[in-house]
Amino acid sequence: MMRNLPSYLILGLTLLSMLMPAMAERGPDVSDYPVKEVAKGVYVIHGPLGVPSVENQGFINNPAFVVGDDGIILIDPGSSVQVGEMVLRQVRSVSNLPVVAVFNTHIHGDHWFANQAVREAYPDIPIFGHEEMRKMVEKGDGQAFLATLMRMTEGAVKGTIEVPPGNTATHGDELSLAGITIRILYEPKAHSHSDIMIELPEHRVVFLGDNVMNNRFGRMDSGTFGGNIAAIDMALATQAEIFVPGHGDTGGREVPQTYRRYLSTMKAEVAKYFDEGLSDFEMKPKIIETLGPFHNWVDFERNIGRHINLAYLEVESELF
Ligand SMILES: [Zn+2]
Repeated sequence: MMRNLPSYLILGLTLLSMLMPAMAERGPDVSDYPVKEVAKGVYVIHGPLGVPSVENQGFINNPAFVVGDDGIILIDPGSSVQVGEMVLRQVRSVSNLPVVAVFNTHIHGDHWFANQAVREAYPDIPIFGHEEMRKMVEKGDGQAFLATLMRMTEGAVKGTIEVPPGNTATHGDELSLAGITIRILYEPKAHSHSDIMIELPEHRVVFLGDNVMNNRFGRMDSGTFGGNIAAIDMALATQAEIFVPGHGDTGGREVPQTYRRYLSTMKAEVAKYFDEGLSDFEMKPKIIETLGPFHNWVDFERNIGRHINLAYLEVESELF
């Protein structure tokens, strides 16, 4: 067959077959998502709701950046090198100032695998995360998340490598970077046991990480309802007026308040039926009925059973 083809075509096909594996080393670029200025100089790129998929290329979080006097700070640049490149394009569409620091709110890779793109563009800047997050990365939690992300996106995030934080951010830290004041808030047993929240007191903004989501459920497998509620109370105790959740739209105090209401209703209902001697299976339909206001959240069916199980275990463990 090949013998009948013109030689230039054979050469072309040979070259193509050599190039194909190299091209497959990397998933496709992520197209631009809109940037929203949520407070003066504070920008958020709100990712699609839902879980990582082929369609969203694993992009589901809310990368954000803050433009200071002589530099920019980035918060949770996203889930892959491709998302990070998109976020840097959006940063440059707003300002020519350099990125001077990155903050990662917690261990879940949909928030920080894009560090790679930032590291490539700015090799020497600090990347901050909580000490617990850094320990979890050492344990291999990042790699496990990356494998899951690869599977769920069918390789869309290919080319992404783990670039974890090298700098520690701790509760009570107050930093000044590029003229921006940054306060770190941390509650140990919240969404993932590694969750920092970032307060910008002058901008009256708090980045909540996954301690709060809007119209969507958080993964509670490595957190506690009680600790998550305490973290939200910490955020609500600030003077902030604008609250940026880990997933879903930014808004006012009602954003953390609504998520708090979900968590506290779930925990209180489970505790009530636990006292009455019901199993988690028996209480499920009653609790679902009480959770009426949250039925329109994304993936209600997928999450609710798991959350009831986890709240049940938490209520049980608190007895000892
Ligand atoms: Zn998370």
